[in-house]
Amino acid sequence: MKDEYQTIIIGGGVAGMTAALYLKRAGHSVAILEKEAPGGQITRTSEIENYPGILKIDGPELAFKMYEQVTTLEVPFIFQEVISLKLENDSILIDTKDHQFRCQNLILTLGRNPKRLRIENEQKLSGKGISWCAVCDGPLYKNKEVAVIGGGRSAIEEALYLSKMCAKVTLIHRRDEFRAENTLVDELRNTSNIKLLTSNQATKFIEKEGRLYSLILEDGSELKVDGCFEFIGQEPSTKILKNLDILDSEGYIEVDKNYQTKYSSIYAGGDCIKKDLYQIVTACADGARIAEQILKK
Ligand code: NAP
Repeated sequence: MKDEYQTIIIGGGVAGMTAALYLKRAGHSVAILEKEAPGGQITRTSEIENYPGILKIDGPELAFKMYEQVTTLEVPFIFQEVISLKLENDSILIDTKDHQFRCQNLILTLGRNPKRLRIENEQKLSGKGISWCAVCDGPLYKNKEVAVIGGGRSAIEEALYLSKMCAKVTLIHRRDEFRAENTLVDELRNTSNIKLLTSNQATKFIEKEGRLYSLILEDGSELKVDGCFEFIGQEPSTKILKNLDILDSEGYIEVDKNYQTKYSSIYAGGDCIKKDLYQIVTACADGARIAEQILKK
């Protein structure tokens, strides 16, 4: 038996949840398929201070509020991982491990995943001292010493978040200029328990008794840490789409100005498409505009 909906959304982050909200309120039948927790990238974000109308909120808390809003509207939020997609006449068939779904319109809001440094022992020590989520793992390092790697907004914001609970945070950045606004960089520089190590990089992780013990840096020095958080950017989570031929060379989904892929029934938005500004509000706007395109059909 197949579950059928007018529209299926793959990816229950903020873009997907906003599309569902707009579609369902217009009386459309819509379901969300999500392989992890609702919220996507914001579940890995500590504090959000630039979502209009909310002074400050934890990422997971905002994700839960959105989840509550769509599930209150009775949008099915189905926790299953999509393994394949197939276009068939006027509909799209979606297979998860144990189920098949059919829809007339598909919205891809697959988000992005954290990039990895790909240096020695990273894989082995993943979850054993190396993390990509300060809000999830930060509390494990209360009063301890950690390193943060990266020089963008994520690295800076998460270093500031970690500095409130850790004894010391060493931020390692490969250049001496940051990719963030001056106010944020000033706050970083003025935080007494954050040490900046610029124009330097980690080249290897050292293990001791099955956990991270230290980092070897490009200049040959060794930095002993209890934990290390990598924030070196994101890559689109679009591997399941390879056979559809809708990805650019970096793995982002190619869409036109109406968020439509080369298939008239498949749309994409949020962080898995190329854009100038990756923000919660821009992801929400993509979701609303895709819903509008589908409702106009
Ligand atoms: P990002 O802006 O792409 O920054 C990635 C950082 O990691 C850069 O400083 C880069 O160095 C460094 N890096 C990349 N590869 C590296 C490697 N192999 N080794 C060492 N360092 C490496 O990524 P992001 O901070 O995750 O932000 C992604 C997007 O989300 C941005 O558009 C950002 O503005 C947005 N964002 C917004 C907010 C907010 O509005 N509150 C919060 C977080 C993120 P280089 O500088 O040398 O290239």
